[in-house]
Amino acid sequence: MTARREAPDVDQLARSMLRLYGAHDDHEEHDHNGGNGIRSKAPDFVSDPDRAAAVREATLRDRERYLTSGLVSVDCRFCHVAVQVKKLGPGHTAVQWTTEASQRCAYFAEIRQSGGESARARACPKLADSIKHAVAEGCLEEISSAPSPGDG
Ligand SMILES: [Zn+2]
Repeated sequence: MTARREAPDVDQLARSMLRLYGAHDDHEEHDHNGGNGIRSKAPDFVSDPDRAAAVREATLRDRERYLTSGLVSVDCRFCHVAVQVKKLGPGHTAVQWTTEASQRCAYFAEIRQSGGESARARACPKLADSIKHAVAEGCLEEISSAPSPGDG
């Protein structure tokens, strides 16, 4: 149970894309499950492949919209990388890292160099600072007003 995976896995980090961190966030530990995938609420349209494809496409679109709506680009003032950020509420911040950003971030690089696993790091603390600044400057909403998919 306490075994650590050895290689820092930037790809995994990039794949998990939406990373959450915050004072009382307990979702992060589930990252290694590879995400929830797309849960199909719709019945299977086995007899109607066109319909099935349309439904699948709509689901992907919804997912895409959910992941990108309300995202604001924030520069890490320390690492000079840009990440997409969305505040979900106090203590809940979604940060979308690109592969490039996670590779260039000095904080993650430091962890990798010291043999740690960057994918398990919460987030670059310098970036957290930059996010606070972005909110203070009005560049980023304290709580995103983008429509939530939760009530649909
Ligand atoms: Zn950074």
